Amino acid sequence: MIDGSPLAVAMEVDEEFAVAAIVQRDPPKIQRLEESVVNRIAAGEVIQRPVSAVKELVENSLDADSSSISVVVKDGGLKLIQVSDDGHGIRLEDLPILCERHTTSKLTKYEDLFSLSSMGFRGEALASMTYVAHVTVTTITKGQIHGYRVSYKDGVMEHEPKACAAVKGTQIMVENLFYNMIARRKTLQNSADDYGKIVDLLSRMAIHHNEVSFSCRKHGAVKADVHSVVSYSRLDSIRSIYGVSVAKNLMKVEVSSADSSGCTFDMEGFISSSNYVAKKTILVLFINDRLVECSALKRAIEIVYAATLPKASKPFVYMSISLPREHVDINIHPTKKEVSILNQEIMIEMIQSEVELKLRNANDTRTFQEQKVEYIQSTLTPLRKDSPVSPLPSGQKTPKVPVHKMVRTDAADPAGRLHAFLQPKPHNLPDKISSLSAVRSSIRQRRNPKETADLSSVQELINGVDSCCHPGLLETVRNCTYVGMADDVFALVQHKTHLYLANVVNLSKELMYQQTLRRFAHFNAIQLSDPAPLSELILLALKEEDLDPQIDEKDHLKEKIAEMNAELLKEKAEMLEEYFSVYMDSNGNLSRLPVILDQYTPDMDRVPEFLLCLGNDVEWDDEKACFQGVSAAIGNFYAMHPPLLPNPSGDGIRFYSKRSESSQEKPDLGGNVEMESMLDQDLLSDAENAWAQREWSIQHVLFPSMRLFLKPPASMASNGTFVKVASLEKLYKIFERC
Ligand code: ADP
Ligand code: MG
Repeated sequence: MIDGSPLAVAMEVDEEFAVAAIVQRDPPKIQRLEESVVNRIAAGEVIQRPVSAVKELVENSLDADSSSISVVVKDGGLKLIQVSDDGHGIRLEDLPILCERHTTSKLTKYEDLFSLSSMGFRGEALASMTYVAHVTVTTITKGQIHGYRVSYKDGVMEHEPKACAAVKGTQIMVENLFYNMIARRKTLQNSADDYGKIVDLLSRMAIHHNEVSFSCRKHGAVKADVHSVVSYSRLDSIRSIYGVSVAKNLMKVEVSSADSSGCTFDMEGFISSSNYVAKKTILVLFINDRLVECSALKRAIEIVYAATLPKASKPFVYMSISLPREHVDINIHPTKKEVSILNQEIMIEMIQSEVELKLRNANDTRTFQEQKVEYIQSTLTPLRKDSPVSPLPSGQKTPKVPVHKMVRTDAADPAGRLHAFLQPKPHNLPDKISSLSAVRSSIRQRRNPKETADLSSVQELINGVDSCCHPGLLETVRNCTYVGMADDVFALVQHKTHLYLANVVNLSKELMYQQTLRRFAHFNAIQLSDPAPLSELILLALKEEDLDPQIDEKDHLKEKIAEMNAELLKEKAEMLEEYFSVYMDSNGNLSRLPVILDQYTPDMDRVPEFLLCLGNDVEWDDEKACFQGVSAAIGNFYAMHPPLLPNPSGDGIRFYSKRSESSQEKPDLGGNVEMESMLDQDLLSDAENAWAQREWSIQHVLFPSMRLFLKPPASMASNGTFVKVASLEKLYKIFERC
């Protein structure tokens, strides 16, 4: 800023004012907090909510070698949590210090932390509970004829232990949790979901510790909400807790690694197959028998599912990972919810690959269900001019659709576009249709194995893809980070110290082509709600191709060509349906398209071009060339081309100026205030949506999927698909000179 400018002066004045405004006071005195205050603050960290108390108590019971643990909860745990076990109990002489902070039977010196096999080790849980609740312990040890009961407050016994009748083990009652932490109690009282969290916790514990029987119920309820019996198979325990519908759709996964680089672990678990449908991921993860969370692993698994399975289902995953104890730091989280692992990234990557492999192999044996693209219907149909849409009162915005769910729309010309054919249809198509057609085709294949096109031609094409793969580019694609879009076609990506420009159109075209080959004959379907006539679509494409709309006879010719192409496609319909899930009904209407990548719908404006390309460019007589041609046409159709509407964030904004109907004058786009009102706002917002959605897909669908599946051909290294634009080392040299 130039000195003396009005703004600079204003800032100086302000600063002076601010300095004058600060009132100096004597330094505050530092005092030692009362121990009870310290303890209560610390307790609030360990026992964050009722479920954390339950976790600590159940872990104590497991540490006490129990074979049966039962939990009773009243009022979401705020009134009462009672955990009873049949473990070894607590000695009478230990009761006086049982609930003092840092008293434990599990650790004597720091080094023990690394050879520990118990859940607890800090000696803090019980103590913490006594600072924020009323705790009563009843316990009996082996060989005793009676047990003892004693209550605790603020870490100490409220009275001498009283002899009482007791059954084997220990029962701990925690009453009136957070009675002295008003704010926390209030927030928890308002959230009614703590009992749900407790049930979830015990369900997870029960499937891992299948040598222990668990039960959990609400106080006064007869029926338990979690009830597991000792079982010898993990799958049985999953079945008894999560139900048959989960257990029957699980596949076993295992990874063992004894890497010299130090990544040593064993993982075994179960993952859901494509037949399992759920909205939320359930990852039940145990590391060295400790129930933990690991968001990085969860994300890695979700990516594989999203990219491998056409159906947008979230997985159910149970995994138990064993690592050398010295590779895990269990002491990084107050409630031990997270742990830190040596070489975590490598481990996650190995698990991710295994999950991917399992899913891919299983793909061949699954039953198919169709995917309907509901959001196409819901966002597009209101734009139909002929549908009775009641316009929203002016000023009221249409409900917001998340960007990633928006499908490109063209309000200016709905009639000529595919949107015109999309219309909501009652969802009463019987689900069985799809599985029926899968069964039908598998029977046909069995009867006439030759009809499966003897898939060696597809295998040859896949082998071709593999053999052309450029190892250097593969490494770049696998490990690059998406930075952002540099322009309409090039994305900026970083790999190690290099920056590249990557052509997303080329990349996505190749990825879609390769995926089409890999999923050959195993696609799920995008159902178009109202079938669109092939010949009209092809005619549309022919007209768009021709820049000279003057000559009328040409139109006639075009109609002829369109008819012929439509006929040709109808002849090939059965094959296109069976192998590529491009479905045309007997009336010559296109009604289904394949899902190539989950969460991605191609730009429907490109359907006409796609059909024309199928008609013109495919070599139908040679099997291999035919499959290659169709896959390439699909690849081109599904590629992430720039939307047809020009990008409004650059020069493209000119396109949206309202053409004055009376005069041919060019609108003034000199950046004046009126410019905004000169723009066609509807069209502009469509364009903005289309571009935003594409960018979302590039970042969240294209790049993650490329990392997993793309085998970049060597040609990409030289044809401008990847261009290195900078390398940090060189930039540093330049900076050094500055
Ligand atoms: P930590 O589990 O970290 O040792 P806690 O405060 O949770 O600390 O428990 C303190 C001690 O009380 C434990 O070390 C254990 O010896 C004893 N204890 C707690 N719960 C039980 C139980 N259910 N059965 C037997 N002993 C228990
Ligand atoms: Mg404990």
